[in-house]
Amino acid sequence: MSSRRNFLKRSAILSSLGGFFSLQAGAFSLRGKIGAATGPVIISTWNHGLPANEAAWQKMQEGGSALDAAEAGVRVPEGDPNVMSVGYGGLPDADGYVTLDACIMDGNNQCGSVACLENIKHPISVARRVMEDTQHVMLVGEGALEFALSKGFKKENLLTPRALKAWQSYKKELEKKRSIINIENHDTIGLLVIDGKGEMSGACTTSGMANKIHGRVGDSPIIGAGLFVDGEVGGACATGVGEEVIKQAGSAMVVELMRNGMAPEEACKEVLRRIVKTNGKKIDFQVGFLALRKDGRYGAYALKRGFNFAVYDSKGNNLIDSPFMKN
Ligand code: ASP
Repeated sequence: MSSRRNFLKRSAILSSLGGFFSLQAGAFSLRGKIGAATGPVIISTWNHGLPANEAAWQKMQEGGSALDAAEAGVRVPEGDPNVMSVGYGGLPDADGYVTLDACIMDGNNQCGSVACLENIKHPISVARRVMEDTQHVMLVGEGALEFALSKGFKKENLLTPRALKAWQSYKKELEKKRSIINIENHDTIGLLVIDGKGEMSGACTTSGMANKIHGRVGDSPIIGAGLFVDGEVGGACATGVGEEVIKQAGSAMVVELMRNGMAPEEACKEVLRRIVKTNGKKIDFQVGFLALRKDGRYGAYALKRGFNFAVYDSKGNNLIDSPFMKN
């Protein structure tokens, strides 16, 4: 995590930042290329969000849609062997298999998902093909792999020597206790975009909890849990212990709370309050939510210190520490 913290950090006062109505003079050259009367905003989880945001922003400059941008953004950590929690180089499960989960969704409730997918470097792109080329939403395991191969995706070994070594040394320790988060074993990328026309999309992709039981699927590929986007309201995504997010229908709930008038940060916090209530006082795990409202206002909240997220808006691409609950 230490390298993650080498990026520019900002304080956790989020509510007043970002949004369509806070244009800064320095941003107009980028905005002009996108041709937006209102400004695009991209937010994504953790510091691997910074290069992901760059790619997403670039995609929009080239004329891509919000969906194109969301996909292009998360493909960066998926393809980076040094990001050991997403895609290629992701830490394996308890049996040594790298199994990937991903989903993608636009503002019109169109979505696609893959879970427990092996040997495909970019599960997010397979999820998009599920969304666009089939009548289904979700494909899993062998079937998802066969589908990917039928669409021309290449079968690759995703287990890097570094991930194998890290897994071997984590394994003994992790078997003794619940997986520790906020270290390199457990960090999804979730990314939310509003493009220059106000269209929204999101993407979420992960190798999931390190040392998980083979076949385990977390929140990340589950629409409504790891990701939810409603073009009329906004979007949300999650990171952390997926089981806790699934139990609350986390991202859909954040969006629903925003629909009912809560600010993004407050909506994230409310779902975390429910997680705390369910678990009692002792919280020894991390969950973080990000939310982006249709008007460009964004917020985040986490159970524990250590969650951060990247925001690309009129102020540039910056890493921000999330506020967290004091439990
Ligand atoms: N939420 C993911 C999962 O439970 C992992 C993470 O965000 O770190 O699979």
